[in-house]
Amino acid sequence: MRKVMAVLAAVLLVSGCAPVATPEPSVPPASPTASAPAASPDASSAAPETSFPEASETPAPTPQWDVATASSLQVVVNKLRPMDPPDFAPELVAVSTGQEGGELVRPELDAALRELDAAMRAAIGEGTYVTSSYRSSALQAQYYQDAIARFGQAAADTTSARPGHSEHQTGLAIDVMSTALECRLARCFGETVAGRWIAANAWEHGFVVRYPEGSDAVTGYAWEPWHLRFVGAEVSTAMHESGTATLEEHFGLEPAPGYAEPAP
Ligand SMILES: [Zn+2]
Repeated sequence: MRKVMAVLAAVLLVSGCAPVATPEPSVPPASPTASAPAASPDASSAAPETSFPEASETPAPTPQWDVATASSLQVVVNKLRPMDPPDFAPELVAVSTGQEGGELVRPELDAALRELDAAMRAAIGEGTYVTSSYRSSALQAQYYQDAIARFGQAAADTTSARPGHSEHQTGLAIDVMSTALECRLARCFGETVAGRWIAANAWEHGFVVRYPEGSDAVTGYAWEPWHLRFVGAEVSTAMHESGTATLEEHFGLEPAPGYAEPAP
């Protein structure tokens, strides 16, 4: 029994130190006493890879969610987590629902947005309308400099991301309003019928309102009811069911209220 506890302790330890988020340790192996190896600091023998059949195809355990790599649908980019690699160029398609013009996103996002748009039209008679989507590093740099010129450095950092730190560079974020075209990029969108419907239902289609009200100290941004992040329905459903507001909290990542580096 002591041996089993030691193995479980090692598993917990390894999970907590993992560089990327891992799911809750699931049930222990069916018969842990039969051939439980001695506790080892080696993750390959201590991690619960038996819970994930796909992990057996590679020598190292495969975490369920990759929150570190820019190409991952579950990547978390914030003020402490720049996009990696910084020059990542996602596969992009044109937004196939309502949009302002020239809007590009990852194909997975567009497919989910079609579903969200159809569900919203059926529910409230208004569709989605995308006003901002993928941004290159150069475009993000321009937006950031414009924000500094208009609001000053400190205020700019609460509304605009420095280049390399914007989710929009991943192709997995969109700024939306409804086809009623009310409250473009404005907090009043959160009080519209469409804004309320999106906040309540977007999770069913794999989206989260990435910067919810009251989470500034975690996300580093004030409430943005228009900014949706696609993370896939498995993650958005889990967050909905647990009532978790932010990706940082869901994946057990440190809060990112500000940048580690001073202003460039
Ligand atoms: Zn945005």
